[in-house]
Amino acid sequence: MPVSVTRQEDGTFVFHGRSNNITEDKGNALRPYGKQLHNYGLVVRLLPDSAQASALNQQIGNARFMANRYLNERDECFHKEHRILSVAEFKGKRFPELKAEFPFLLLSDKFGLEAAVEHMDKAFSRFYKKESGFPKFASKRGKKGSRYTTKQTGGNLAFEEKGGLPYLKLPKVGLVRFVLPKGTSLPLLCPKGTRILKAVISRTASGTYEASLGMETVIDRVVPVDVLSARDVIGMDLGLHDYCTLSDGDGTCKVENPRWIRLHGRRLRRFQKALSRKEYDRKTHTGSKNWEKARLRVAREQRKTACQRKDFQHKLSRALTDRCSAVVCEDLNIKGIMKNRHLSKPTASVGWYGFLSKLEYKLKKEGKHLIRVSRWFPSSQTCHACGYKNREVKDLGIREWDCPSCGVHNDRDGNAAETLRLEGLRLLGEAGVRIQEAA
Ligand SMILES: [Zn+2]
Repeated sequence: MPVSVTRQEDGTFVFHGRSNNITEDKGNALRPYGKQLHNYGLVVRLLPDSAQASALNQQIGNARFMANRYLNERDECFHKEHRILSVAEFKGKRFPELKAEFPFLLLSDKFGLEAAVEHMDKAFSRFYKKESGFPKFASKRGKKGSRYTTKQTGGNLAFEEKGGLPYLKLPKVGLVRFVLPKGTSLPLLCPKGTRILKAVISRTASGTYEASLGMETVIDRVVPVDVLSARDVIGMDLGLHDYCTLSDGDGTCKVENPRWIRLHGRRLRRFQKALSRKEYDRKTHTGSKNWEKARLRVAREQRKTACQRKDFQHKLSRALTDRCSAVVCEDLNIKGIMKNRHLSKPTASVGWYGFLSKLEYKLKKEGKHLIRVSRWFPSSQTCHACGYKNREVKDLGIREWDCPSCGVHNDRDGNAAETLRLEGLRLLGEAGVRIQEAA
């Protein structure tokens, strides 16, 4: 049955039918209405009472149990029978048997158990594709073993308001209080026609609970900007010394690394050192009271910086999106950089990947462009004024240079940003976008 859509009296849309490619088909069904789907993520902090916290822990524990059970049986099946135990077979045959044997599994919602097994299956696929090592057991102390996933069916996942307070409805757990993000209200957070498709509930290292929600809403069709002014195209060189250098053709500007990056490094090191001095039994995985306190301090510090980083990335990407129609940057090979031990630390803390993905979806939602220039393009070595390629500039230590061909004085990062911008303009032109030179 193909996917169709009907418009309700209140202007919201209701989808009918099933498909293997649901997101694309829903989008196609919305086309005649001049609308499109918009999927986005939302993270909220949960405030469960003690009964709800134990219900959440049960779900998390059951998901971990199922994932590990599947890993174990699949491995065994492979060695004894030389075949792969598929997810479908495990679900169809073993689920009922396991539920009979371990009644606590009945306390879980069905999706939580299924998703755990599916995730483990994906870990196997990555292993076959040589993208990662052999799947590991989910551990209570690891991230993988501290969360579960659930999906929408018939309104089981929803926001609700009760007595003026915001609640998230979760299957088998009930209405759980959550913290409304600053400056929002429930109707703003979830306007009519917005649905929660999926929720990943996790217990964080600092002992709090959060829900990471996959949201879906219908918005006016985004029309890609196909005529733009050359001044609204910004070249961006991501750096280690400065966060990034921007160029709009008229001049360049540097965005400094936020101060907390270094501060955090120092504090974290101090806390970690303190933690390592406390008593901890590696065999039983138990620590002294002071060990537990020190562990929490490390976890909180990490969490705090993660929040600061996200906040910074959102603000910078919002400012860029408001200012321009296209951003041109280098297509970074993040994995490769992370493997380089000399560069990995600053890169990890600067978090380019997170920044670029935030920038990309913000631009996309407004029909604007993020152009990724091949990382083989010699942006720092090419003179922006005449195109001369100066191989000597390969040395990262050279911060400024004079072009031997045209004599222009180049600042390394500013020149790279402008060269990227010019290459981006060329690529935009190739893609059929009309560029108007500024008057
Ligand atoms: Zn030159």
